[in-house]
Order: sequence, then C-alpha cells, then structure tokens
Amino acid sequence: MNLETAKSPQTKRPKRHQPLTLLWALGRAARAEPRLVPWETTRAEIGSLISTFGLVDDAPNPEYPVLKLAHFGLWEIAEHPAPPAASGGEPLRWMRRHQPLSGPCDWVYDLVTKDDAVRSRVAAFLLSEYLHDVDQNALLARVGLQAAPVGRRSTTVERIVRDSALSRLVKTLHDHMCQICGIRLMLPTGPYAEGCHIRPLGEPHNGPDELANMLCLCPNHHTLFDAGALAVQGDLIVVDRSTGAPVGALSVVAEHSIDPRHVTYHREAVAGGEAD
Ligand SMILES: [Zn+2]
Repeated sequence: MNLETAKSPQTKRPKRHQPLTLLWALGRAARAEPRLVPWETTRAEIGSLISTFGLVDDAPNPEYPVLKLAHFGLWEIAEHPAPPAASGGEPLRWMRRHQPLSGPCDWVYDLVTKDDAVRSRVAAFLLSEYLHDVDQNALLARVGLQAAPVGRRSTTVERIVRDSALSRLVKTLHDHMCQICGIRLMLPTGPYAEGCHIRPLGEPHNGPDELANMLCLCPNHHTLFDAGALAVQGDLIVVDRSTGAPVGALSVVAEHSIDPRHVTYHREAVAGGEAD
C-alpha cells in the first residue's frame, strides 16, 4: 500500500492527512459505526486529529485526504461520483456546498469491520510508515482502536486494566504467540500474552512507547527479557546471557518492524553487553 502522500515543505516528511483519516475510519469500523458520515462530523473529527497528531505544518484540512482517498478508489462520496480534485480552495467550497456523506468504500469497510486481524495489520502499517514520533498509544486510544475488551473480568483483571492500546495491537499482530518460544497460552478468557518494551519506558532508559519498541512475549520470556537474562543479537537470534547459548530466533511478522536501535540498546544497557 502506498498512499502517495505529499511531503511537508517544512519537515520534508510525508504529510499525515491520509494515514490519520484512515485510522479514524478504522476506529469507526472497530465500533461497527455507520460507514458513511456527514461532512461536518468528518471535518470536525479528522481536523482535530490532524491538529493533534499531524506534522507542525500540516493544515487541518480534511477535505484533501477525503478527496485523495476517493480518487484512489478507497473512499466513497455518496451521490457524487465526480468530486473535484484535491487542490486549491475548491474542495472546501465544494464540501460546504454539497455537504456529502462520505466514508470508506463498501469493500474496504467490510474487510476492516469483520476482521480484527486485518484492521490491526492496517493500523500497524500506518503507524510504522507514517506516524513516528507521535504518542501512538494516545492516537490509538483517541480513534478508539485496540480498546480494552469489554466484560473481560477475571484474576488477570489488573494486567488487563494496565494493558495499553499499543500492547494489545502488538499481541493481535502476533496472534498472542510469544516471539521467542512460539507458545500461545490459552486462558478461559481467551489467549494470553504480554506486550513488552524492548528499551524500557521511564528513567533511566526512557524508551519510546511505540510499536517498533515492542515485543509480544509469554510471561516467562517477558520476565527473562526485562531482567536482561536474554539478549537479542543483531540477526534477531535470542541468546541466554548466562550460558551464551542461542535460545532461538525471534519470530517476526511483516506488519511489525522492530527498530534495531532499541534491540542494541537492550543488549548493551539492559542485558549488559555482548554475550561471552
Ligand atoms: Zn515465550
């Protein structure tokens, strides 16, 4: 998927209008809300997302991403098969005049409404590709993606309450299978795994809360990894620090790329240097 996003003149980075618009739509799909939305709602909600999570010089003008996505065949502008091109002042005037209902096309919406895994993969792609350096947890929570499951109350309640949207996303991407041992624990409440930060959050490590700094692990490997008993080499082979023996290769999925800088940091600062 390539959104052909224009580059921001100031930051030289891809503008975030389309990724944010798609995340907004994914959140609506996750809640099974109506596919087509009145223009004023679209404008207000996407505009506020762009203001909060866009680049410094991203103007909060949602008519551009809506029109671009419509021209790519991903978005429907109901009863208006030939909307104007996404440039200049005409798009906003046109939207105000016609007040169209719009939203993702039927096939797109069906795909992401029915399948949590597909939705998670698209969200992960958008975060990794376009939304570095934003509070990814806050963004997922804001659009209502990876919300805490309702009615899941058990002895694990405390963990679930503390579970972040990003942690739920990484676990969905790996189908709750530990990236080190491949185990998928089944509880009466469903599969269980833990989201683990590679470079730890908070002092003194100050790791970022982003998808590229996370792993999906079983509780045992989470504990060993956090304690520095395991280190991940540059080739993603996991090594037992006490014996130097390889434990296995970290399993990866295409939608979840791990930032090698965080792996190096963990190996050097948490696991204490090259295994000997
Ligand atoms: Zn494991």
